[in-house]
Amino acid sequence: MKLILLFAFQSVFFLNAFCQDIQTLINRFNQDSLLKTVRELSGEDSVIINGTNTIITYRAAYIGSNLTEDYLKARLSGYGLNVQTQKYSINGLNVFGIQEGTKFPNEAFIVGAHHDAVTFYCADDNASGCAAVMETARILSETSCDYTIIYAFWDEEEAGLWGSNYQAKQARQTDN
Ligand SMILES: [Zn+2]
Repeated sequence: MKLILLFAFQSVFFLNAFCQDIQTLINRFNQDSLLKTVRELSGEDSVIINGTNTIITYRAAYIGSNLTEDYLKARLSGYGLNVQTQKYSINGLNVFGIQEGTKFPNEAFIVGAHHDAVTFYCADDNASGCAAVMETARILSETSCDYTIIYAFWDEEEAGLWGSNYQAKQARQTDN
């Protein structure tokens, strides 16, 4: 997992856009934090969502993933990020945490994972990917970055990459 984070950090910080020393950031990666997110998203541990103690037992898009989406929004908001959503169908909802760049706010790096799952629990598809993105958000949100970073959680990957496709098409149309 550290290799993945190293790749993510290097992608974000190349072109001399260093916020701070990369190794320092990697050292802040916390396996317990990562595991906690996987456990919460895959129904192993209960979570408090909208003031209610509950368990996320499924994230299948065809059922609707409202609990997951509210969970992601609360986590991103807790890191002080600008939370935005993109609703593109009855059940389809992308969730984004936006960290605006200080020098180049209109140029963005995307760190993303799909938040839906094919069936119940699904720790490795894709709670683990969401946890990696959330851990990256936790660490980088405490830094100041030249470029905007979008922490993206796409919906309906299992249906055919619908959420990420929608974001890509919207970005092409609006040129941002
Ligand atoms: Zn998948």
